Amino acid sequence: MSKREFDNAFPDYNGENLLGADSSINSEFAGKIRGHVSRMLDALENGLSKGVDWKNYSVYTGTTGVAYLYFHLYTVLDDCQEDRFLKKALSLLEPCLTHLGLRRVSFLQGDAGPLALATVVYHLLGRSTAKQDCLERLLEMKTIVYDDHCLPEELLNGRIGYLYALLFVNHHLGADTIDKLVVYRVYETVLKNGRQFAKEERSKFPLMYEWHDKKYLGAAHGLAGILYLLLQIREPVYQKYSHEWIEPSIEMLMTLRFPSGNYPSSIGSASGDKLVQWCHGAPGWVPTFCMAHKTYGEPKYLDEALKCGEVIWCRGLLRKGYGLCHGSAGNAYAFLSLFRATNDQKHLHRACQFAEWCFQYGSHGCRNPDRPLSLFEGLAGTIYFLTDLLKPMKSRFPAFEL
Ligand SMILES: [Zn+2]
Repeated sequence: MSKREFDNAFPDYNGENLLGADSSINSEFAGKIRGHVSRMLDALENGLSKGVDWKNYSVYTGTTGVAYLYFHLYTVLDDCQEDRFLKKALSLLEPCLTHLGLRRVSFLQGDAGPLALATVVYHLLGRSTAKQDCLERLLEMKTIVYDDHCLPEELLNGRIGYLYALLFVNHHLGADTIDKLVVYRVYETVLKNGRQFAKEERSKFPLMYEWHDKKYLGAAHGLAGILYLLLQIREPVYQKYSHEWIEPSIEMLMTLRFPSGNYPSSIGSASGDKLVQWCHGAPGWVPTFCMAHKTYGEPKYLDEALKCGEVIWCRGLLRKGYGLCHGSAGNAYAFLSLFRATNDQKHLHRACQFAEWCFQYGSHGCRNPDRPLSLFEGLAGTIYFLTDLLKPMKSRFPAFEL
């Protein structure tokens, strides 16, 4: 079988300073990024002008994902086009807002994504009635999240994806926008369900979850994504759970590392050390280990994140393409997490080299994604990553890192 990745022929870090003023990327590379972003945005808009699938309104591969990119451009690019970007975001969001079923609760695949993003965009445009309406509808879904026993916990489709939506709103509009009691109850429900399932399965992990009968480990469907978001809740009253259940789960996961530094996609996976991508494998684990290091202060968690970085550098230029979920741009975000955690420009250099790869979008013979313009599989995600590189200390993997 042919390799899943291209050989990485880029030179590793040689000590040069990559930063300019205000911890932004230096002006030479910033100019390069802006040139490619402008060209790629033209290609994206040209693609959108040929037709949009309005039935798919998800952040993951639908219209809200592209709206999220425009919102991101508003926050990162300071070129007097702010309103233009916000209005474009709204033009992609509004067609779906009136007919959401309020049954699918996650940010990435459900109704919480469009509602949370629209809440923030309406706020920025000063449209308080529309903002309040979206916020109330987002909160209407909380009863499903509290009570529906069939709901999975994972980030892409489940309960922790709803927690992300709540934290996204609070991050952009202020920590008290959404009542903390709602946030805490979702957090407690995810913890309680993970504890109960681990006991039922007699798992050696204090917390365990499953999706489609598999105990996934990666960011999209598994423990990496769930634990990362659980670690965001840092109230002293929850310290006990954090130390008794969350930290030992992370330690237990460290025992599953392959010699390469990569991780299996699920417990008992027979596929071996194959996937190095955000959704399955080491790239999705880096933010979780960095967050564990920040939370517990133990160097071993940062060491673990750094080991992940090595395998991503070697095997992260994927034949699957340049996207966020299972592509080179998504893998590059792991280097940005490591840079923010260590301040070591080696990791920023590696992200820049992956950006160089993304500048040549479409020229390496990669597989064409099913949704080629989308945020998580396609061009919108690559543009999102490249613009994040302009201010690397502020970069965050969308719909995941906070
Ligand atoms: Zn994926």
